[in-house]
Amino acid sequence: MTESPLAKPLGELPWIPPQRVRHFGRFGIATIEDLLTHYPKRYEDRTTFDHFPQIESEQPVCLCGIVRSISVKRIRGGRTMVEVTLEEEQATALSPRLICRWFNVYHVQKMIAAGQKLIVFGKPKERLKKLYIDHPEFEIVEGEELSIHVNRITPIYRLTEGITQRMYRAAVYRVLEGLNLASLHDRLPRGLDPTPYGTALRQIHFPDSEAQREAARRHLVLGEFFAMQLFIGAKRAETVSRPGQNHCGPGALMERFHAGLPFPLTGAQTRTIAEIRADLAAPRPMNRLLHGDVGSGKTLVALSAMLLCVESGFQAALMAPTQILAEQHYLNCKRWLAPLGLNVALRTGSKRTESAMPLFDDGAWLDSVMGKPGARRPAAGDPQIIIGTHALLYEGAGLNNLGLAVIDEQHKFGVLQRAKLIEQSTAPDVLVMTATPIPRTLTMTVYGDLDVSTLDEMPAHRGKIITLLRDTTKLPDAAAFIRKELEAGRQAYIVYPLIEESDKLEAKAAAQEFEKWQKLLAPMRCELLHGRIDPAEKDAIMEKFRAGQAQALIATSVIEVGIDVPNATIMLIENAERFGLAQLHQLRGRIGRGTLKSWCILISDATDAPALEKLNTLEETADGFKIAEADLRLRGPGDILGTAQSGLPPLKLGDLLADQAWMRAARTAAVRLFQADPQLERPEHRGFRDLITGQRKLMLAQIS
Ligand code: ADP
Ligand code: MG
Repeated sequence: MTESPLAKPLGELPWIPPQRVRHFGRFGIATIEDLLTHYPKRYEDRTTFDHFPQIESEQPVCLCGIVRSISVKRIRGGRTMVEVTLEEEQATALSPRLICRWFNVYHVQKMIAAGQKLIVFGKPKERLKKLYIDHPEFEIVEGEELSIHVNRITPIYRLTEGITQRMYRAAVYRVLEGLNLASLHDRLPRGLDPTPYGTALRQIHFPDSEAQREAARRHLVLGEFFAMQLFIGAKRAETVSRPGQNHCGPGALMERFHAGLPFPLTGAQTRTIAEIRADLAAPRPMNRLLHGDVGSGKTLVALSAMLLCVESGFQAALMAPTQILAEQHYLNCKRWLAPLGLNVALRTGSKRTESAMPLFDDGAWLDSVMGKPGARRPAAGDPQIIIGTHALLYEGAGLNNLGLAVIDEQHKFGVLQRAKLIEQSTAPDVLVMTATPIPRTLTMTVYGDLDVSTLDEMPAHRGKIITLLRDTTKLPDAAAFIRKELEAGRQAYIVYPLIEESDKLEAKAAAQEFEKWQKLLAPMRCELLHGRIDPAEKDAIMEKFRAGQAQALIATSVIEVGIDVPNATIMLIENAERFGLAQLHQLRGRIGRGTLKSWCILISDATDAPALEKLNTLEETADGFKIAEADLRLRGPGDILGTAQSGLPPLKLGDLLADQAWMRAARTAAVRLFQADPQLERPEHRGFRDLITGQRKLMLAQIS
């Protein structure tokens, strides 16, 4: 295949001065493709400028005017201020004027001179009867190249110092002129979108109309999504093609475990266990995501899967993001699995514990449960179930015969860590679990290479959680209420936001919090828990709380994930606005785990709209799926994707939320393509392989 003209380095274009090539290079723009796929951040319709404003407004205006005067003033603190007075082209004495100001921006005064024509963009503010725009975006109009920079819908780019809008725009214009746009290969399968690729590239930069810009955007977003879905599909094809093994025993161990539980499984638990079981039994590696709301009972599903695996003679590992959580899983395992006589080990940074359970000699445990000797078994003395933190990723964790890796709270780990755990062994089955439900758009992308199981049903007889939002003046009332509940035998979490400035400040804040609450709740027993407490002590504190020897746990968000103490029915969160929505939902998930009614009290004095929307959402709903969508809306997908964490190439144009429907279309198209031609061998599909390579490069560039 001939090299695409888009791959050409800018340095090979004779008309770009080498110095500019270096400038662009530092900005990450090295090839024609880089230049053209750095899309405009917005547009100005320079066929009709706004009128000079008479009043201030929250809406930015785009004006074209003549610089009447420019002055530089020294102001307080040794700072300088550049003041430019702008007026309409055919101004009269009565025409409105506008003052543009820049503080401490030295290059501005060098660029602007009286008499110049200037285009400015910004929000006009009124002070003492004059209108100002502070730090407007601006551009000097220099006459000749009118068809590029003005009299059209003009692109405005996100740039860095040293590269001006005109410089960038002119380069794009010239590059587009020099390309045979019609010859560019389409990057979408036929039928997905009618706009040719070359047309879309031109129209996204220099749209002839709003409608053409929209059509161009649709085409390019679809292309971007399609490339991403190809990349995901290729990753998936890779795992599916790796030979795996059957890691599924007959189920006797799991049945005994279920029979010993004090409650029946929910329908969703039964269904997801069946889905996982089929994967474990299949001769290819499982790659499955289990997601469900806090408290939906994911641990039980994970343990069931682990028992199926253990019964087939392989080890099962469970990796948790924190020590506290790993230990809790370990305790649960011991409690639940003790009757089965399994060898469970804990591996965390500070601990290496073989379970106190009876260690059967070579395989006897297996024979005893299955009643048939001769099945595959782990090496003598190796634990069958290993629970741990990141420590599992390192040598000597004892994963010699790993059949199933369960990764709890996947979002706390990066993809690379996931990859590392999996690499250790020959294609183990992998189950990742997330604490929060994931909106569908994100499962299609971030987890697009995984099969998805959803726990969409809560165990029956869960106590209701009532969520209340109060300001700090109500703290004493809240404390009185909490004390009453504690006297009645309940337990409470008091959560305060972490102060991250320094260890010392953090310790001081913790001590203050502790003292405050001990007074408020006296004579109840309080314990303090935060990240800087050493692990052994942390355990002791958690243990006390679990055992009911402490009634209130004053803590930072270290208790966010996984902690399970059903008798705790109260959670009070101070400065609740400082936590994220999903995080607050997680925190709240620590209560309402038993049959008792629970209370979540959010304390906040915030008055800004986003904070209120966040806190009101929590007051209104306890549905994790709704909360996840609200979170996605409030924070935007970029934040949630956590790019480097996701292991996906970045999106330059597409918006996971607003463009969901296109992602779905792209996914369907990619899936269909892989079904028809798994290796993308057909000549008409070869180009798509280059797309995948390109995506991989982008992804790697982002991680490093
Ligand atoms: P999460 O999905 O948040 O990880 P857990 O696995 O910690 O939830 O389970 C939450 C609580 O619900 C635990 O105390 C667990 O023992 C209990 N639980 C799990 N499944 C059921 C069920 N089917 N019926 C009643 N309680 C259950
Ligand atoms: Mg959990």
